[in-house]
Amino acid sequence: MQNPFQNAMAQLDKVAKIKNFGEEFITHLRQPDRDIRISIPIQMDNGSLNIFEGYRVEYNNALGPYKGGIRYHPDTEINEVKALAFWMAIKCAVANIPMGGGKGGITVDPKKLSKGELERLSRGWVRRLSDILGPHKDVPAPDVNTTPEIMAWMVDEYMKLTGEKTGATFTGKPIENGGSEGRGEATGLGGFYVFDSLRAQIGLPEKCKVVIQGFGNVGGNAARIFAKNGHTVIAVSDSKSAIVKEDGLDLKKVETHKKETGSLKDFPGAKNITNEELLELPSDLLVPAAFENVITEANANSIKAKAVLELANGPITPEADEILFKKGIRVIPDVLANSGGVTVSYFEWDQNLKNEHWTEKQVFDKLKPMMEDASQKIFERAKENKTYLRMGAFILALERIKEKML
Ligand code: NAD
Repeated sequence: MQNPFQNAMAQLDKVAKIKNFGEEFITHLRQPDRDIRISIPIQMDNGSLNIFEGYRVEYNNALGPYKGGIRYHPDTEINEVKALAFWMAIKCAVANIPMGGGKGGITVDPKKLSKGELERLSRGWVRRLSDILGPHKDVPAPDVNTTPEIMAWMVDEYMKLTGEKTGATFTGKPIENGGSEGRGEATGLGGFYVFDSLRAQIGLPEKCKVVIQGFGNVGGNAARIFAKNGHTVIAVSDSKSAIVKEDGLDLKKVETHKKETGSLKDFPGAKNITNEELLELPSDLLVPAAFENVITEANANSIKAKAVLELANGPITPEADEILFKKGIRVIPDVLANSGGVTVSYFEWDQNLKNEHWTEKQVFDKLKPMMEDASQKIFERAKENKTYLRMGAFILALERIKEKML
């Protein structure tokens, strides 16, 4: 597996070649402001002591407090967290919200922990880091395998330790703990608004055949939203299985099947395929919504979709990006496509600080024009600089960050 931080820096190198931002500024962005590794000792249910490794990377706060999720995964390590923190800095700038870039994580398989162990671990992460967190310093959120319930434990621990009262230090909280309406759907919906804004410009038909990798928070919501808007979702997958049905999947039934059997496999009327085969299906739009590095040099030449909407973070390696570009496959980059999540996280922070609670309609009415504005500005930057959309997004983000840093 490639080091995701090297991928992120390769993207930075590429953008620096397309537009001159000055050597000093680019050098500054090659390192996070700080990266912190912590050990979290936890008493397990059987009485033994386990020490887990945790992280918080604060990449850049030129635009506002560091912002970014916390990932629980057995493969999580510092380079992954650094890459994700860098992309958060770019993403917040693209979305035009007053937040900087950060990310956190713990190397753990949460499925192997009891609920009590998971709560002690989550509270332990906050105890180690409470000094650097805060509504105007660093505002974490959920990511892969972290949930609103975990955010509720974390914000509770933080408020107990510091006496802070607004709850604005963590976003992605349950509604009853100060969470925002619409946060669950925000990433998938924001991705749809971006796609809809750019669809005609990138030459896609009015009704698209869509393939989605990942059926979790982001992929599952995206599948529902695309289908609701008249597109045909022909294939979906999770970590264990993938299914395809050329004339479209009935997603409600797919969800019930997954709930009942624990897997997508053997869904009536659909064909079982592998995740690798799913990525190579002919379609109008391929939506990776699971993990990084799924489209690489090894399979990029076999991709047959007309366009890719990156809802996952970093699903395409820089080498694969070049191959897709040469093949004429348009890629709507992660820093734009999945920025609806952080935008609604920002709305949650804003509501907490103002002691307000907005309706779901208010939230989505604010989200849509922001996603459309970012999409069109990026399209213009890409066109002006004769480059692809990812570089257009980086150019827009670096312009905004540099202006603030100066
Ligand atoms: P999740 O844990 O809810 O879902 C992940 C999905 O991917 C699950 O369906 C899982 O079964 C599947 N999966 C795991 N391993 C796989 C594999 N090897 N092949 C195919 N599928 C696999 O996570 P999520 O919150 O939906 O996040 C998905 C991606 O979106 C991540 O890259 C995350 O960083 C990114 N993202 C999430 C948000 C958010 O708001 N949740 C915001 C921005 C970006």
